[in-house]
Amino acid sequence: MELDVPRLDDLQLRGKRVLVRVDFNVPVDEKGAITDDTRIRASLPTIAEIIAKGGKPVLLSHFGRPKGKVVESMRLTAAGKRLAELLKTPVQKAGECLLLENLRFHPEEEANDPVFAKALALSGDLFVNDAFGSSHRDHASVCGIARLLPSAAGRLMEKEIAAFRRVLVEPAQPFLAILGGAKVSDKLKVVDHLLEKVNAILVGGGMAYTFLKAQDHRVGKSLVQEDQIDLVLKSLMKAERMGIPILLPEDHVCATAFAENSKPIPSGVDIDDALLGLDIGPKTAATYRRKILEAKTVVWNGPMGVFEWPSFRAGTDAVAHAVADCPGYTVVGGGDSVAAVERAQLTSRIKRAPCSPASRSSCASAPDPANSLVSQLQSATADTACPSCKNARSSSRLRSSPATSRASARRSRARKRPARTGSTST
Ligand code: AMP
Repeated sequence: MELDVPRLDDLQLRGKRVLVRVDFNVPVDEKGAITDDTRIRASLPTIAEIIAKGGKPVLLSHFGRPKGKVVESMRLTAAGKRLAELLKTPVQKAGECLLLENLRFHPEEEANDPVFAKALALSGDLFVNDAFGSSHRDHASVCGIARLLPSAAGRLMEKEIAAFRRVLVEPAQPFLAILGGAKVSDKLKVVDHLLEKVNAILVGGGMAYTFLKAQDHRVGKSLVQEDQIDLVLKSLMKAERMGIPILLPEDHVCATAFAENSKPIPSGVDIDDALLGLDIGPKTAATYRRKILEAKTVVWNGPMGVFEWPSFRAGTDAVAHAVADCPGYTVVGGGDSVAAVERAQLTSRIKRAPCSPASRSSCASAPDPANSLVSQLQSATADTACPSCKNARSSSRLRSSPATSRASARRSRARKRPARTGSTST
């Protein structure tokens, strides 16, 4: 499938310093040793090609979340060492390939500071974005540099875009989307868009509670974006009209507080006022597994619960295993879902597990404010003109909806509530 953004072939590489945004945000153990070098390996074709064509790659990456400060454990030393082994060439010296230190040691990186972007751009003649997993970020090394230098997509980026187009253009049916994660606001447009393409949507994670509340279920103290309830209702009604089931959790793993050491408490679909849902329950996981195994195309974005905490990880693990067991074409996107797949050591069993979240096809020059897989699905017609640079990330806060919007949500729910079906019934 054609890629309609500039690619490596479009750049004159000989004698040029080529800034390459890679994603070396690799998983490491407690001693800092790399436990999975997939992301480094994935960047090799681009780096090797630049070297072979007489260019000098200058690699830029982030690693972890150092929050604008130098954090010794978040240096890129191990990644550089591993890359040198794989490339069989010295890295981090003024040799054939240079790797700069973790960009997120500088607060200016995440702020997309124009002075910082300019300083980075001065170290190169050209810019290549091969960091599929970071391309949705409005960061200096992604968006800032791309505005300043002739830019192109790297080989990994090309592959990832092709994978997503395979999902978006004539996907094999049944096509199932699984959406999770905290923020329903990030994903509602995607739900709407997916309705045109998929045969069913499975919803989990924090975002499920806004859906459940919209259906008048009791959700206790669970995460709810009150100001999204009207929009959720609209999506539910649209799905109902189109005959596309949106499956919601039928049971949950709850807790009395949002804390890692909270005792997991099982709950049916309606949650006690004193509890909050932190994972999908076993019945839901079984239903979702069944659906996933029947699908010929699956895209998954967002965890089913607070998978960072062992007591609330089973739902996400179950979905990861089901996606790995699915014989169809499976794509996992979103840092958290990819991390869950990596943690369960299932990466090789996913047909396309991007080296992190996917992005708009315009990654060579544009970040996307929303989650990148989500954005890709949103822009399913593969608009490659990078309009997203203009957008600022929504600052809507969870649980912060004003009373007025709650009241209006109640009013409009009363007006237009869709038929209430069993949460996971198709
Ligand atoms: P997102 O960035 O919207 O994809 O959300 C990912 C985050 O959602 C992860 O850090 C999860 O811990 C969090 N999450 C998933 N399920 C829940 C839940 N039920 N309550 C609160 N946070 C959740």
